[in-house]
Amino acid sequence: MEIYLDNAATTALDPDVIEAILPFLTTNYANPSSAHGAGRRVKEAIDQARRTVAGLLGASPDEIYFTAGATEGINLALSGAIQAYDLNHVLTSRIEHKAVLATLKRHEKEGDIETSFVKLDERGNVDLYHLENLLRANPRTLIALMHGNNEIGNLTDIQAIGVLARRYNAVFFTDTTQTMGKVRFDLQDIDFLVGSAHKFHGPKGAGFIYINKKHHLKPLIYGGGQESGQRGGTENVTGIVGLAKALEVAYRNLDENQTKICKLKQYLVSKLAISGIEGICYNGESKSLENSVANVLSVSFPCLSTGSLVAGLDQIGIAVSGGSACSGRGTSHVIRALACEADKENVRFSFSKFNTFEELDRVVAAIVRIYESDPLVAAGKAWKNIASWALDSSGGARQFQF
Ligand code: PLP
Repeated sequence: MEIYLDNAATTALDPDVIEAILPFLTTNYANPSSAHGAGRRVKEAIDQARRTVAGLLGASPDEIYFTAGATEGINLALSGAIQAYDLNHVLTSRIEHKAVLATLKRHEKEGDIETSFVKLDERGNVDLYHLENLLRANPRTLIALMHGNNEIGNLTDIQAIGVLARRYNAVFFTDTTQTMGKVRFDLQDIDFLVGSAHKFHGPKGAGFIYINKKHHLKPLIYGGGQESGQRGGTENVTGIVGLAKALEVAYRNLDENQTKICKLKQYLVSKLAISGIEGICYNGESKSLENSVANVLSVSFPCLSTGSLVAGLDQIGIAVSGGSACSGRGTSHVIRALACEADKENVRFSFSKFNTFEELDRVVAAIVRIYESDPLVAAGKAWKNIASWALDSSGGARQFQF
């Protein structure tokens, strides 16, 4: 792989994380539940990881439970809260991650809950007035609204939602998978949240859920009483140790990394603006430095006649994500929920601290090459030039620019 711009999907392991994990792959392999020194040492490493995560988030260690990633944490938060508190109404949005939407769909199908979808504006921002009206009309609601959107980067005002949740006695879960280690936030007024190590340069298959002390959740996985009975099963020790190290590194360099990543985003926007490709626009708030996660830039490109841009970039070793309405395959549920033009190809560029400006130069040059070699785009350009030449009342000789 030459250039990796798919960091919202997953990230490379940080070298410090690899170093922290290694002893637990080699010598420190004992079961943390074992009643011997080797087991106790591994147990201590898990406890230390829990203290680290809690300390970074301003939580208490007994509010952090390790899971196998955000999907599991989301299932636990939603199903666990619905069952533990007998909640029959969930307030969510159409642009949540599938882990949220599919879990809620199941509960709705089984008759456990009714789901309300908060109104979004044309850029995908939550309408707080509508949210308040829904809360007023539905006592004992579970709110499930994400902090940073994984496709368009939109940041939700979770502090304001938390205040409303308190006012109306609702329970508030927020999916912080895309913002963990990237955006600082306050846990006050949040009841549950989840994180996933592989989104912040930690290992895959390791995550955690924060459960505010005053709450409990009905477990999903029963077993040997690990994670205080909240999640049975022998702990993923390397995952947990790696997660804590990755979060520590992320918080240590948070401002510096975010400044660099904001610059990468601005740079790509500025390069695309002068690329000569017409009809580029940005989805949701992703172009905004204030209202979106810095590392996500969702761009709408005009359709190519020769196939998809994402596939074209993939062929030359550039990894990005996307969905296209051009090919008739349809766009994602997130893009469909926005007021986007239908006949566009949506490409998500997502950066990390490891990307460089030079890589972005190469990516934009590749995109320009793909458009220039597309016969339909070239023909469209030619027609435009002919039309503007014909309309040139000055009579001056205009050059064709194919
Ligand atoms: N929530 C969001 C917003 C995500 O972006 C993702 C991963 O893409 C998930 C949940 C699921 O995370 P995991 O891969 O840890 O299950």
